Amino acid sequence: MTKLITRQQEGVPVVRGRKSKGGARVAVSEPKRRLFRVVEAARMGMCFGVRDALEAVREAARQGPLTVLGELAHNEVVLERLAAAGIGRARPEADSAPTQRVAITAHGVSDQVRRRWLEAGYEVTDTTCPLVRKAHDALACLVAEGCHPVVIGRHGHVEVQGLTGDYPEAVVIEDVGDIARLPKAAKLGVVSQTTQPPDRVAVLLGAIRRERPGSIVDFRDTVCRPTRERQQALEALCREADFVVVVGGKNSNNTRELVEKIRAYGVPAHRVARPQEVRREWLKGCRVVGVTAGTSTLPESVAAVTHQLRQWAGE
Ligand code: SF4
Repeated sequence: MTKLITRQQEGVPVVRGRKSKGGARVAVSEPKRRLFRVVEAARMGMCFGVRDALEAVREAARQGPLTVLGELAHNEVVLERLAAAGIGRARPEADSAPTQRVAITAHGVSDQVRRRWLEAGYEVTDTTCPLVRKAHDALACLVAEGCHPVVIGRHGHVEVQGLTGDYPEAVVIEDVGDIARLPKAAKLGVVSQTTQPPDRVAVLLGAIRRERPGSIVDFRDTVCRPTRERQQALEALCREADFVVVVGGKNSNNTRELVEKIRAYGVPAHRVARPQEVRREWLKGCRVVGVTAGTSTLPESVAAVTHQLRQWAGE
C-alpha cells in the first residue's frame, strides 16, 4: 500500500514523506501498523495419544467400514472429517454397531465394555492411549492391594467412566463436596483423570487426606505428561498475554480446563474451534494476544486461527 505520510501514527516507526524539487510531498511505502503481538504457547495442541488414535482409525477405515465407539477426539472439526470419510459413531455402551469393525478411542473403556464387544464377535481396533492404560493399571493395582478405588476427575467424562466401569464401588471426586461420599475405608487408592490440572489434583488430594485422617491414602499420579506440559506453558503465556484464544472443541475437557485456568490467572479467554468464531471485539485494546490449544485440536486448526489473528494484528 502506498500513501502520503502526513502525520506520525501511534506505535509506528516514523517514516517521512520525501519532498520533490517543487516542494510537494511524494508517495512512499508505509510500514504496516501492528495493532498487537500474537504469542503462541510453547506447548499446545494435539497430543501424541490423540494423534496416534486418529492415524490408527484412518488406517483401519482404509481396510473397510468402521464405527468409532464414542468421540475419537472431543473436537468438532475432527468429528466432521471422520463423518465425511464415512466413519460412523456408536456409544461404547450400545448393544450393537452398524459395522462389524469397531474402534475404541484414546480415552479407553472398561475391561467389561471391551470384552462385551469382543465376545459379540466384533473386530476391535483399540486406540486407548498408553497413558490412559497406565491410569487403568494403577487403579487395578491399588484395588488388588486392598484399596477402595477413588478417581479425581470429572463426573461422567468418558475416560472416568472407563476407569470406574469395572469398579461399581469407585468414588469420583470432582470437587471437595464429593469427599463426603468416600467410605470410611482403611485404605483409599487414588488416581487422577489424565487431563486434570495438577494443582487441582494436589488440592483435592490434600482435602481427602484431611477429611479421612483414619485412612491410608495411596495416591498414584496419573496426570499425563502432555497435560502437565501444556498447563506449565500456559502459566508463562498468561504472564505475557492480556487475552488468550484457546483453540479446541466444546466437549473437550482439557480445553475447558485451559480456559478456566487462564481466567483464574486473571486473563480473559475464549474458546474457538475455528477462525470464523474469533470475534474482533475481544481483542480491542490488547497489546499481546496469546494462543493455546487443547490436546484434541488439529495443528491446522491452530494454524488457521493464528493466521487470522496475525492478519488482524498487522504482523
Ligand atoms: S491427553 Fe494425555 S492421556 Fe489423553 S490421549 Fe493425550 S497423551 Fe493420552
